[in-house]
Amino acid sequence: MKYLSLLLLVTGCYQVQDLEIVEPELQQYWQQFQIEAQQLGVQLPRRDVMILVSDDLRQGQRAVCSGTKRYASIRIARGVLPLDGEYDLSVEATVFHELAHGLLDRHHMPVEDGAYDQVSLMCVPAHRPSYHDGTKRDYYIKELFNKL
Ligand SMILES: [Zn+2]
Repeated sequence: MKYLSLLLLVTGCYQVQDLEIVEPELQQYWQQFQIEAQQLGVQLPRRDVMILVSDDLRQGQRAVCSGTKRYASIRIARGVLPLDGEYDLSVEATVFHELAHGLLDRHHMPVEDGAYDQVSLMCVPAHRPSYHDGTKRDYYIKELFNKL
């Protein structure tokens, strides 16, 4: 009987939670995302998280996210990452956008025609110079976590 219950545990009575597979060069962005959530008082859902560097995205594609209520799987195009490994706000924006799909259940938002800056990291295609130069990052982060 002991073995049977152990087997049930292993085979799916309990889902595996908090599995984290994060590529070393993306770890700093994942940590920053969690810091932002914490600072804004947002409890992230317990989902398995995979954040990987990919060599096989479509040309011009920066990232993809797939997921369910149980896991978020994100792939970032290798070409997006700076060669020196420095923290980069445009990479952060890409990773945060995908994590918002995967962990905050956010969807894309329409782009406003002619706007200098868009209103959200969830706007596609991306155009947010004031995020990348850091001047409006706080606004974008609050908007992303629904804390404006
Ligand atoms: Zn997206």
